[in-house]
Amino acid sequence: MLKVKEEELEKIKSECNNCKKCSLGITRTNIVFSDGNPNAKILLIGEAPGADEDATGTPFVGRAGKLLTKLIEECGMLRKNDFYICNTVKCRPPENRVPTDEEKELCKNYLLNQIKIVQPKVIVLCGATSAKSFLGNKIKISQIRGQWYKLFNNIDATVIFHPSYLLRNHSEAEGSPRWLTKQDLYKIKDFVS
Ligand code: SF4
Repeated sequence: MLKVKEEELEKIKSECNNCKKCSLGITRTNIVFSDGNPNAKILLIGEAPGADEDATGTPFVGRAGKLLTKLIEECGMLRKNDFYICNTVKCRPPENRVPTDEEKELCKNYLLNQIKIVQPKVIVLCGATSAKSFLGNKIKISQIRGQWYKLFNNIDATVIFHPSYLLRNHSEAEGSPRWLTKQDLYKIKDFVS
């Protein structure tokens, strides 16, 4: 099963490697396709690649990614085993701007195909850009984080803060964004156990 998934994902990755559907395809160094385990029960969708991700071709490897990995581990999970991680767009927006609705739409089929192949038990929408892609542009991340939704064919989904927001909020006191994120991660862990 894992081998079949890997082969199917590799085909989509090759398509992305040749993709120039939007202007991000012209300025990227590498596409940033995914990281983690295609058999994972948790599929996490972040915003867009940054400079470190563009250079390495791997999502969430910069400071924000390291913080996400640390929080995942503090909640008793392993990023490499328990998560399949990707982004709303595969190529880095210049100067780390937020990807436009048009760029996200043009890239969305790749992401939807990744979800279809991985068949996660839960989708984690990480940050406002990711949440807006699936829940609409009117949402406010502070109001919907921690809530649960049904996407597509009844796949459960929930929303967490993006780790780049947590980098600007150091407190781990009860009620702080970091503390809330850990509560969300514990709930996700319980849900897939
Ligand atoms: S961001 Fe997506 S749609 Fe745009 S060029 Fe990259 S792979 Fe293609």
